[in-house]
Amino acid sequence: MVITQERTQVTAKDFRSTQKSTWCPGCGDFGIMNAVQTALVNAGVAPWQVLIVSGIGCGSKLPDYINVNGYMTLHGRGATIGCGAHLANTSLQTIIIGGDGDSFGIGIGHMIHNMRRNMDVVHIVENNEVYGLTKGQYSPTSKRGFKTSTSPEGAIEFGINPLALALSAGATFIGRSFSGDPKHAASIIQQAMEHKGYAIVDMLQTCPTYNKLQNVDWYKSQTYKIEEERPNYDPKDPVQAFQLAMEDDGRYPLGVLFKNDDRPTYSEQIPVYQKDSRPIIEHSLELDSQFFESLKETYV
Ligand code: SF4
Repeated sequence: MVITQERTQVTAKDFRSTQKSTWCPGCGDFGIMNAVQTALVNAGVAPWQVLIVSGIGCGSKLPDYINVNGYMTLHGRGATIGCGAHLANTSLQTIIIGGDGDSFGIGIGHMIHNMRRNMDVVHIVENNEVYGLTKGQYSPTSKRGFKTSTSPEGAIEFGINPLALALSAGATFIGRSFSGDPKHAASIIQQAMEHKGYAIVDMLQTCPTYNKLQNVDWYKSQTYKIEEERPNYDPKDPVQAFQLAMEDDGRYPLGVLFKNDDRPTYSEQIPVYQKDSRPIIEHSLELDSQFFESLKETYV
């Protein structure tokens, strides 16, 4: 969303929670949480102006560890609750957060519909290519051949391509970053927050407990920044974006893959907001007596 409320002077301290984290030492979730806090500080958004909704998973514990409005819901349902909360109160910066299993597994249907509707929310996928909380099964983004407890001979399925999926489903902002590069991660999250419309951030993440191969050094050698290697890349061009998303040289491009500022958001198009653009929670609950009589005549 484009934050129209007055910018507030906030510091990282304002977002710190007193809850002790249960993440494993070295988990990429720490980097993601720091990046979210930095992005909020840099955007001048205060804790009470933010709602973070998550599902189930290691990274989905994040609302517990950050001092903003938070809601942990059912597995994969962060997208639905986040969408409903945003429609009720469009003045909140709504961030949906979940792992690759939560987002691209059980929650994939909800996520796709938020994309095609251009729901004005940010969805950060903490993508470590493994189910961490349930002890290391292969996930929808795991690479073919990835050996885990449920794929001892190597996964036989091909992993989902998050960038191509988001492009084809109509996401109007698609970014990718890495938990081990907090400055870059914070910048991509901030750009996602400032985008008007649906924004997905595919946040590559280390899981030192169950994905030992893809450690920090591995990601550093297997990623590149789009703006450094392709100075002429135009994120507004969907054809270039599809080409980049489908390129398979084994490395992950980082940066803003796609951005379309021209599509109206879902809330801008629904009658209730066309009549009164204030958040629904500020609308009067008083029922117009004439309207009430007409309802009675119709239904009673
Ligand atoms: Fe992080 Fe993996 Fe530990 Fe979960 S299992 S807390 S993702 S390191």
